[in-house]
Amino acid sequence: MKGSWALHAPCQGRDGFTVRDDQWKTRADLKRLCGPLLPTCGPCPFRAKCIATVKPAQAIFDGIAGGRLWCNGVVISALDDVFDEELAEPKLRATCGTEAGAKDHIRHGERPCPSCRQAVREMTARRNEAKAKEKTDQPEQLQLDFTTT
Ligand code: SF4
Ligand SMILES: [Zn+2]
Repeated sequence: MKGSWALHAPCQGRDGFTVRDDQWKTRADLKRLCGPLLPTCGPCPFRAKCIATVKPAQAIFDGIAGGRLWCNGVVISALDDVFDEELAEPKLRATCGTEAGAKDHIRHGERPCPSCRQAVREMTARRNEAKAKEKTDQPEQLQLDFTTT
């Protein structure tokens, strides 16, 4: 990893953050081999720099960078407190402006663009509305009282 900041990162001098191609076959292998090291990135203040340096999506990276576990350049696991802002700038895609577009950004190691974020917000609101309506449409459950028989 380049940059003097890397000397101060919690992973400095530690192995296992990436694996050789002949060491793994499946995502489960990667999770087993690298997953236990993911918490090391927890207190790291350089997550965004780490991702910008490793460029996991372009490099089709396998291993840990920026609080995320990547497999073939795609995030397969992440710490709970990661931020989209730590990811690369979004590229505009044909799917932009849809929920699928937001997923595409994430898959490519990018933060979702504004129109994809808007699409996700609208979709979430519609789902919540539908759920609320479903609840109010449900007929009241028949109450059977056997205590008086
Ligand atoms: S984010 Fe994780 S892998 Fe990257 S420099 Fe920090 S500790 Fe190391
Ligand atoms: Zn987009």
